[in-house]
Amino acid sequence: MRDAILIIGGGIAGINCALNAARYGTKVYLVDDTASIGGMMARLDKTFPTNDCSICIEAPQMYDTDNQENIEILTHTEVRKVKAKNGGFDIRLVKRPKYVDEEKCTGCGACVEACPVSIPDEMDGKIGGKRKLISMAFPQAVPNMVSLDPACRSGEMQDAGACIGGCAVDCSQCRECPIALCVKACEKEGKNAVTLWQSAKNVKLEVKSIVVATGIDAARPAGDLLGYDLYDNVITGMQFERLMNAGGPTAGEIIRPSDGRHARRIAWVQCAGRGLAPGKGVPYCSKICCMIATKQVIITKEHDAAVETTVFYNDLKAYGKNFWGFYQKAVDAGVRYIRGRPYEVQENPETRNLVVRYENLETGKIETHEVDLLVLSTGIVPNERNAKLAKVLGIELDHLGYFKEKDPLTAPLETSVPGIYLCGGATGPIDIAESVVQACAAGMKAVLRP
Ligand SMILES: Cc1cc2nc3c(=O)[nH]c(=O)nc-3n(C[C@H](O)[C@H](O)[C@H](O)COP(=O)(O)OP(=O)(O)OC[C@H]3O[C@@H](n4cnc5c(N)ncnc54)[C@H](O)[C@@H]3O)c2cc1C
Repeated sequence: MRDAILIIGGGIAGINCALNAARYGTKVYLVDDTASIGGMMARLDKTFPTNDCSICIEAPQMYDTDNQENIEILTHTEVRKVKAKNGGFDIRLVKRPKYVDEEKCTGCGACVEACPVSIPDEMDGKIGGKRKLISMAFPQAVPNMVSLDPACRSGEMQDAGACIGGCAVDCSQCRECPIALCVKACEKEGKNAVTLWQSAKNVKLEVKSIVVATGIDAARPAGDLLGYDLYDNVITGMQFERLMNAGGPTAGEIIRPSDGRHARRIAWVQCAGRGLAPGKGVPYCSKICCMIATKQVIITKEHDAAVETTVFYNDLKAYGKNFWGFYQKAVDAGVRYIRGRPYEVQENPETRNLVVRYENLETGKIETHEVDLLVLSTGIVPNERNAKLAKVLGIELDHLGYFKEKDPLTAPLETSVPGIYLCGGATGPIDIAESVVQACAAGMKAVLRP
């Protein structure tokens, strides 16, 4: 299989890289360490600059990837060892158990319904998002199946009300569970797909090239940045994205975490935390946040034109094709853009409204602005698993933690190791269109490598 290629990361970049390479006739292994391919785009509501529904665009590509005979998808899988050999690479992967049989699970959801414990969802916790201990990553997940939280199986969730745990026999030794409600619900459906005794599997591959497409993350606010830790109604841009998403925890209702009331006055703070001491904020411009906020204000206005929307910004980045027109659309919809630097937020304990104190950069004066909900655009950061992967691959990260290119001008998708290429958010903050362009180019480099 020396003609095969390995793509690490199944976001929109990895998916496009895989589809292009596979249509060219190449065998592709597409690896993601989460339960589904899709990446960040699967969590978004709509996408700038067209405001098309994000998952409606990505899901058909995810299904094509799943149905492409040249592509093998390996989810819940980590790259553990890479060794250069005979002009290609020997790879060792570890497929972590989902405790659910991939062949048997149809994603019917009976086990999810039966599970008695809901815990805060990692991404949507502050805005009320919850998930069960056995759950599907999102409704359109590929593969369309559930996975079980390992903490449940080990008994750690017993105090939270989990049915598993405290058993004298370790799950790995026992193939018939009389306790777990998810197991019983699955048996009732006649599928017997929940397999608590599953263990990790080693997978070995031989490939001629590797594409790293491990993507980006949304920065979490450091400390009590502008009241984030103190006040329920201060949220991040990522959380707002989930709030306005029909598939999100509030079914698309733009409501306040503190009391569930519809927010009538909302402000966005661009570059929130930027320029603070190292480790307290993102020190660089993330390039896409101005357009993310502009998308969010336009959609907010589409939900309800009467909602007052304000964007505090330093310097507007509308660098891409149709981006300036997109910004104009927001202005025409009545969005107020203020060149100002918010530095303090205080909550009115009775109304839970927030008073933002800011320096007006046009007049130099200190002013205040009261809102129901405050959204912090905290920037984009590298994926935190990059450092571990860079070590395994023997390639470098740059000083910010993104993968380092061989030459930023003439070889921006190559690395210091011949045969290992980069695309999408693995290279730095990036939008979807640019990720797709890079993915196609990196895929072709990987395929055409002699
Ligand atoms: C709040 C927000 C809103 C946005 N809105 C827009 C928008 O409207 N329009 C737009 O153009 N862009 C938008 N973006 C940017 C967009 O999300 C990115 O351009 C896009 O997700 C980049 O795709 P990617 O495939 O490179 O990375 P990702 O989508 O991050 O996917 C990376 C994948 O790699 C996997 N992975 C990571 N590390 C490993 C590893 N070590 N091993 C195996 N797998 C791994 C991850 O699980 C993930 O599935 C937004 C971003 C944010 C944060």
